[in-house]
Amino acid sequence: MKIIKCYNCDLILKAKTKQEMLNQLYLHYMSEHEKVILGADTTKKKLWMEKFNKDWSEAPKAE
Ligand SMILES: [Zn+2]
Repeated sequence: MKIIKCYNCDLILKAKTKQEMLNQLYLHYMSEHEKVILGADTTKKKLWMEKFNKDWSEAPKAE
């Protein structure tokens, strides 16, 4: 399990795989930060994914 904190609030998410984390983040963003997703253009989405990939690789492990 790895831990990632939401970029727009203090929610902590845990997941075993990157895909699982992305799914959780997506659902969370769609319910809590819909405007962030809907307002993001391609460049912002690309930057977000780059940041997420980096954060995922560096994320602390949790049991
Ligand atoms: Zn959030």
